[in-house]
Amino acid sequence: MSALLHVDAVTVDYGGFKALDGFSLDLAQGETRVVIGPNGAGKSTLCDTIIGRVRPTHGAIRFMGEDISRLSEPAIVARGICRKFQAPGVLPSLTVQDNMALAARTDRRWWKALSHGIPAAERAFVAETLDRVGLAARAGTPAGELSHGEKQWLEIGMVLATRAQVILLDEPTAGMGPAETRATAELVRELGTSRTVLVIDHDMSFVEQLEAPVTVMHQGRLLASGTLDEVRADREVAAVYLGH
Ligand code: ADP
Ligand code: MG
Repeated sequence: MSALLHVDAVTVDYGGFKALDGFSLDLAQGETRVVIGPNGAGKSTLCDTIIGRVRPTHGAIRFMGEDISRLSEPAIVARGICRKFQAPGVLPSLTVQDNMALAARTDRRWWKALSHGIPAAERAFVAETLDRVGLAARAGTPAGELSHGEKQWLEIGMVLATRAQVILLDEPTAGMGPAETRATAELVRELGTSRTVLVIDHDMSFVEQLEAPVTVMHQGRLLASGTLDEVRADREVAAVYLGH
């Protein structure tokens, strides 16, 4: 079976220190996969490499059969891969709706969305995407006034609005309490019905709620892969990740 996204034996060497060390991962079309691992395991580096911020020293990233590992980040985003960063990055003085409208401008003519308002053709899409992330009632609120959780959901919505086929979420529940984490799990499961999703997290209660296959990383390498129960039962995982 050929994967939609194929991380093929990627090494990222920072002057002798390997943040990724021959790491491979396949994402099938429509799959949701969770990558877990202790701090410093290389999870964010994996995202950075897929999206073109970091170049592999060895190995390649293939998307729909094409080697994308030498492409720029904008070129990779244009091919349909989009990433949400660990820290939320919305424009605080713009309304929730305008943030979404900017993300939806795939032609990148952002100033048009701002100076002429949201084009009619885009308005329904923006409203629908706000609704998908549970922010319809907040459309007119400046994004800076949202709660931390709402900002994260807005950003997930902005990733959706780019119409990306593959969505990378780096710790979407960072800084969230249990109720917000539950809502985020529900949102990610919903995204998984229409997109291919790679989620990075280390919050076990969140990972449990996603009910998705899990890949465990440690020191830039693949440690285990399977269901959450399977990787939990793995002795190596218990030793290095769960600390017993
Ligand atoms: P994670 O997201 O799993 O916590 P990271 O991918 O952020 O891990 O980092 C993996 C390792 O690579 C860490 O030890 C980190 O200090 C190191 N690292 C990340 N970026 C750089 C860099 N630009 N130069 C040197 N080391 C780096
Ligand atoms: Mg990280």
